[in-house]
Amino acid sequence: MNIALAGRTVLVLVVFSHSIFLMAQGHLFAGLVENLLLMSFLLYGTLNPGSRLFGPVQRKVDEGFWLTIDDGPDPGDTPVILDLLDQYETKAAFFLIGEKAAKYPDLVREIRKRGHQIGNHTWSHPQTSFWAAGPIRTSREIKKCQDLLTEILGEAPTLFRAPVGHRNFFVHPILRVLNLRLIGWSARGFDAVSTDSQEVLEKINGSLGEGSIVLAHEATAIAPEVIEGILKLLQTYDEPVVGTGS
Ligand SMILES: [Zn+2]
Repeated sequence: MNIALAGRTVLVLVVFSHSIFLMAQGHLFAGLVENLLLMSFLLYGTLNPGSRLFGPVQRKVDEGFWLTIDDGPDPGDTPVILDLLDQYETKAAFFLIGEKAAKYPDLVREIRKRGHQIGNHTWSHPQTSFWAAGPIRTSREIKKCQDLLTEILGEAPTLFRAPVGHRNFFVHPILRVLNLRLIGWSARGFDAVSTDSQEVLEKINGSLGEGSIVLAHEATAIAPEVIEGILKLLQTYDEPVVGTGS
């Protein structure tokens, strides 16, 4: 455990203990308020994808736009998306799920061969429970994916994206050990849950701004049309689409 995490853990335990102490002393209301504030503070840092409460998250690039594509590799979508990116002469970052990468290692190598970046998106993408995972499970989710991608690619990824952007108390210390940078986003169209590509593209267009990191997904019903729509949309701007977030 590093010093920052140890410090935060001690602080949380002290505040939590103090709230219990207050309640035990008969100051029920004050103790409850303190307890609720502590829980709200922790939930904000955990569930808000843009929160920097537990550590840094990159949500912008210095110039242009950065296209990022999550949840692959996918045998149906990845080859189509790679061809689209070539057609529009654009580079992107693919945040891959370890379990899928294990099934389709050739697709992982193909993404790299075509000149795109590859990032870690956890081993099993536990989107409903990652925020509540303990240190061992959090570490296993990140490290198992990291080890597999490193084995396939011959070099370790340096980018990480949390499932649905949720973090927990333990993510940042693990990222530091594995030399991973947490990447968020600033433009998205909820394409993972929508079936209307036009609506998705309108939302992305509405949230695009200077230095936007654009979030898109593969392995959805509308992935290729959304990606093509984004590529067309980005071409209407003077800003370049950068293939790297650094
Ligand atoms: Zn995802």
